[in-house]
Amino acid sequence: MYHKNTPMEFTINNHNSNYQKIEKYNPEVTDELSGHYKKILELVGEDPTREGLEKTPLRVAKAMQFLLQGYEIDPESLLKSAMFKEDYRQMVIVKDIELFSMCEHHMLPFFGKAHVAYIPNGYITGLSKVARVVDAFSRRLQVQERLTTQIKECIQNTLQPLGVAVVIEAQHLCMQMRGVQKQHSVTTTSDFTGAFTREATRIEFLRIIGTPMH
Ligand SMILES: [Zn+2]
Repeated sequence: MYHKNTPMEFTINNHNSNYQKIEKYNPEVTDELSGHYKKILELVGEDPTREGLEKTPLRVAKAMQFLLQGYEIDPESLLKSAMFKEDYRQMVIVKDIELFSMCEHHMLPFFGKAHVAYIPNGYITGLSKVARVVDAFSRRLQVQERLTTQIKECIQNTLQPLGVAVVIEAQHLCMQMRGVQKQHSVTTTSDFTGAFTREATRIEFLRIIGTPMH
């Protein structure tokens, strides 16, 4: 079982290295999206033929495909392709994973950090793979709560560890730019399985990632 010794702790700090660069956009999707965005420009009172906006529908069409590329990725097979047998049974923590997602209610960004921990039960995975799982689920239309749970379940289902912990701290532009305009509010969500449902283990994890939650 899990002993409270020396957890391994990692910080993912080379930001954009995990984002897949899209080299080829689906031309049909790009065309159709561009048409819709041109219409949107007209509907908000703009002139889509003026110089500055001429290529905007095309750029937005590509940007949206980039921001929502997570639908193309199967995070479980991603993890399954990088599982290694290992007897290590201490907490493995990947903290400060940069996260960019889009809220499904307003299609506006929310962004922040994810902290993920698991206690191996025979299998470990590459640390960058944990970050890629976060990306794969983030790059979709999301709510922060579901995103948190999906990351947790993906790791639980594939590595079948003794426990998984996921904490996400994020700022939502739909809150900051409109409506309540709570400029600096950060939303924190968390989800735990197995060993992390025990308070001592959970508190240790929260202490290491430095959130004020406990
Ligand atoms: Zn929203």
